[in-house]
Amino acid sequence: MKPSSRKFRFATRAVHAGEAPDPITGASSPNLVMSSTFVADPGVNFSVESDETKNAHVYTRWSNPTLDQLERKLADLEGAEAGLVFGSGMAAISGLLMNQLKAGDELVMSDVTYAGASELANETLPNMGIKVKRVDMSNLAAVAAAVTPATKLVYAETPANPIMRLTDIAAVAEIAKANNAEFVVDSTFASPVGTLPIALGADYVIQSITKYLGGHGDAIGGAVLGKQAPLANMRQKILVHGGGILSPFNAWLILRGIATLPLRMRAHQEGALKVAQFLESHPKIKRVMYPGLPSHPQHDLATRQMANFSGMLSFQVEDGNKAARAFADHCEVFHYAVSLGHHRSLLFYMDTDSLLQSSFWLTEAQQASYRAFAGNGIFRTSIGIEDPDDLCEDLEEALRHL
Ligand SMILES: *Cc1c(COP(=O)(O)O)cnc(C)c1O
Repeated sequence: MKPSSRKFRFATRAVHAGEAPDPITGASSPNLVMSSTFVADPGVNFSVESDETKNAHVYTRWSNPTLDQLERKLADLEGAEAGLVFGSGMAAISGLLMNQLKAGDELVMSDVTYAGASELANETLPNMGIKVKRVDMSNLAAVAAAVTPATKLVYAETPANPIMRLTDIAAVAEIAKANNAEFVVDSTFASPVGTLPIALGADYVIQSITKYLGGHGDAIGGAVLGKQAPLANMRQKILVHGGGILSPFNAWLILRGIATLPLRMRAHQEGALKVAQFLESHPKIKRVMYPGLPSHPQHDLATRQMANFSGMLSFQVEDGNKAARAFADHCEVFHYAVSLGHHRSLLFYMDTDSLLQSSFWLTEAQQASYRAFAGNGIFRTSIGIEDPDDLCEDLEEALRHL
């Protein structure tokens, strides 16, 4: 087979990037290499720091052919020089933060993020002597005031879990650059079909590949994409020494999932728009938050920054706890469950008091602002790839019980 010299379009790269037929067997699909160790040349020095071992596989914690293929594919799709895969999205986030920050450094982080990332920033990082400032990343004046030459890293998540708030990546990248800070974007909700943060000026992208990239709810994994040099350092310090690597089996499942990412994202967006419109017109629904709806306060930014609005939407009803019971008891298609980005539709209630208790927000003012926005709670919904009419009927039936 001829090695490619052309730059292919996204859907072609989702299938082919990072993969090549196996040179020995001719296998067309990626091999699953579960071997923990590889037969070595006794002349080779076994230190991971040795140059001699760089191109050969020695031990799967150091490198593995199946993991390599996934890393190459992810880097290609995000437009990054390099990629690293981890045992989970949280392992990718904690690995990046621990590698780029040390005692005395300052992190400026969005005040709305995935709860695990928030808890890490609020508890673990300050215990390590890292200063954390939380800021509303949709407010550029607030970001400009928070980021100073003392800032080492700026961290945004867009769209942000669970309120679907967006960050203007290009604008925040400029603020970070002007202060010599690096900028990382957790782009899990958008997927690389929706947004390419590196092209917009970000230094690193985080993906929980458990979600849209894997796409089938059967493999947990995470990734950091970025420049070659810092990622090579991160591979050694965080993966080889930290040890939180991805199983090759999960990598193989996720590689297979990525081939259909462009098709699935189209279906997720189409379904989410239909469900969002249905919910917005339903008398028992107070508010729907979906970047693809003109009623989203940042719909203009969404249109500029997202080539696909994805399948994530949030909504509110009068009595969230009662509604959560109704959805869990009466839905026949939606699963009442956490997680997102699967082929199957998922729905989960995020009660404001429990979220605030899990130290989602740092200051009193931030807590008050979240309360004002979210009321008693928010339903986070991940629209799958089922027929959207079945999804609307499922919700309609459950809502009759309210
Ligand atoms: C799920 C998620 C994570 C964490 O990923 P895991 O694979 O569950 O560890 C991080 N960020 C966002 C936005 C997520 O949705």
